[in-house]
Amino acid sequence: MCGVFGAYAPGEDVARLTYFALQALQHRGQESAGIAVGDDKTVTAVKNLGLVSQVFEETDLASLPGSVAIGHTRYSTTGQSTAWENSQPHMSSIGRQLIALAHNGNLINTTALQEGLQASKMHLRSTTDSEAIAALIGEITQRTHHIREAVAETMLRVRGAFAVVLITEMALYAFRDPLGIRPLCLGELSDGRGWVVASETCALDIVGARFLRDVEPGEVIKISAEGIETFSANPWPQRREALCIFEYVYFARPDSTMEGASIYESRFRMGETLAGEYPVAADAVMSVPDSGTPAAVGYAHASGIPYLEGLAKNRYVGRTFIQPTQSLRQLGIRLKLNPMRFALEGKRLVVVDDSIVRGNTTRAIVQMLREAGAREVHMRISSPPVAWPCFFGIDTDSRDQLIGAHKTVEQIRAHIGADSLGYLSQEGMITATGLRAENFCLACFDGHYPLDVADKLAAEAAEHPGIGTAKLEM
Ligand code: 5GP
Ligand code: MG
Repeated sequence: MCGVFGAYAPGEDVARLTYFALQALQHRGQESAGIAVGDDKTVTAVKNLGLVSQVFEETDLASLPGSVAIGHTRYSTTGQSTAWENSQPHMSSIGRQLIALAHNGNLINTTALQEGLQASKMHLRSTTDSEAIAALIGEITQRTHHIREAVAETMLRVRGAFAVVLITEMALYAFRDPLGIRPLCLGELSDGRGWVVASETCALDIVGARFLRDVEPGEVIKISAEGIETFSANPWPQRREALCIFEYVYFARPDSTMEGASIYESRFRMGETLAGEYPVAADAVMSVPDSGTPAAVGYAHASGIPYLEGLAKNRYVGRTFIQPTQSLRQLGIRLKLNPMRFALEGKRLVVVDDSIVRGNTTRAIVQMLREAGAREVHMRISSPPVAWPCFFGIDTDSRDQLIGAHKTVEQIRAHIGADSLGYLSQEGMITATGLRAENFCLACFDGHYPLDVADKLAAEAAEHPGIGTAKLEM
């Protein structure tokens, strides 16, 4: 999972615009951040490991004048190292022209693509699939002389999830995979000052851009001095869409909108529905902040049980490069969340969170709430059990790590030590968004992948014997 942003706005400080947009996309990735700018002559990039606020100094932004820019916040998915080379935007060249590219999503045929590229003597410096996309576009452009045609052809060769922004020294390109697995939207700066594209609408808000629409699955957009051009390069225009439903459950910021559905409202309704599906007599409803909060408010609203804040969250601890010692790691969760004994003592609590992945954090939270005096802890989860791995860019681990893949709901309840546990139904989750099942990739919940991942599942099963044949009891 990552955040991407692009701006075409001659006369504006596009680097600074991108910097602020990346601040609004920080939740999509904390490992590295980068900005690349085109100034009509060349493309220059600044990128590094760390948070947006750590990577860029005032002098960096001042040294990046231009009319077109892209930016990226990176969340590394399993298996890739914390290497500077893997931070984005990725720079490459097409003949003597420099391009920069930033990508959100995961490809599922990278190995085959890399073999093909190596056969045609392209050299790959880093290990990201974003590099494979850039190399393909470069290779095809040598032949077609037009990046837009190369993008369209690339769309036919790569398989997986990709929301991509790309710049040359004078143009911005944006394109989205044919199933629309990862989000991407288009906005307009006021008074015709330019256009922007972003993973989420919250990045449009922060730069004062007006939301125009979501980029269509399989759509290619080019923005340059000639204006905005768009066309469909979707090889399967008839096929379903498969927007990642985990964006609604956990990933996106609650102030964003996707496919016309407010993320906050979707989460609130998930909580309301959960209250109907798993009611319980209790004194208070609380959330595991921040991800569980809109659903917890919805649960309280529908059940009539008062809402309270039971956990104080430290918002300043991100991913830290300082590894805790073993004894400190056991305190782990308290670095981020600490219970408020005064609010909890003697209470029967409904505790709402958005998802359980491994179950470790949830177990620690239940124990912590009991130590703080809670009389009963009723865990409510505003999505179904996560039971299948994601190959499209969300870091939800292999199946052996997913508690929902090999335990029943009752076994999970016992593991986390809650008095009761209720998961929102898949139907309830979908209905809460106002969209339909055909709009979504639901694979992490039901194992129905929108693309053929048989080889990926087989590789995982070989690595973790027993899991491949494990029956789902749900
Ligand atoms: P668990 O009990 O599975 O260890 O942790 C559950 C918590 O993980 C929930 O609060 C949920 O919001 C959070 N979570 C779900 N998906 C992700 C993810 O992809 N990355 C991170 N960092 N947290 C996640
Ligand atoms: Mg959470």
